[in-house]
Amino acid sequence: MKENKARLYVITGPSGVGKGTVLNKFFEHNKDNIIYSISATTRAPRPQEKDGVNYFFITKEEFEREIENGDFLEWAKYSDNYYGTKKSFVLKCLNEGKSVVLEIEAQGAKKVMEKYPECVSIFITPPDLDELEKRLRGRKTETEDAIQKRLEAVKRELEESKNYKYLIVNDKVDEAFNQLQQIYEKESAL
Ligand code: ADP
Ligand code: 5GP
Repeated sequence: MKENKARLYVITGPSGVGKGTVLNKFFEHNKDNIIYSISATTRAPRPQEKDGVNYFFITKEEFEREIENGDFLEWAKYSDNYYGTKKSFVLKCLNEGKSVVLEIEAQGAKKVMEKYPECVSIFITPPDLDELEKRLRGRKTETEDAIQKRLEAVKRELEESKNYKYLIVNDKVDEAFNQLQQIYEKESAL
């Protein structure tokens, strides 16, 4: 019988910590059998972002209709916008024996961890709060108001980190990537 090692990965961490940066590197090295789940959001696209690549950018009305229809595995309101994971896509990948990565914020992650206790939960944390703010501002993608909302969420998010199976401190990108890679290889072999 074919062994199914597909895993659901939940990756969380405060905005600006470097989740996207570390995951981009991870997916440069791991193209087979693991897939990034593209979320839906009501937030406006950033200049470099593309619909269907970074997110499915939809309206508040469309998002609320999809909630009603039960289309989301989880969803959350974060910094005045909705974000949600497409249930059908994730279940299809797992059924096909492929692992899936959810890059989601802490409220949604909590719901997924409750529903799927066997998931591989990973929290990415900054070396310190000053460095986090520096990165968030240095990215130059948010308005001051959006930066403040993201910073307000940090304390609550960091308190959740103890509930995750793995903790990665993103000090140097290469080291954080190596840790993620080791977790992936270990979990794939289990
Ligand atoms: P997130 O996806 O968690 O919101 P990003 O990946 O967009 O965060 O990273 C936020 C900013 O911090 C980006 O400008 C990125 O280049 C930078 N960054 C990410 N990781 C590091 C790191 N280890 N050291 C310094 N800067 C980093
Ligand atoms: P950003 O606006 O910076 O792209 O994302 C804001 C936060 O929403 C990040 O913490 C990101 O991981 C999270 N996020 C992205 N997609 C989803 C999702 O589908 N569900 C939940 N709960 N959070 C998400």
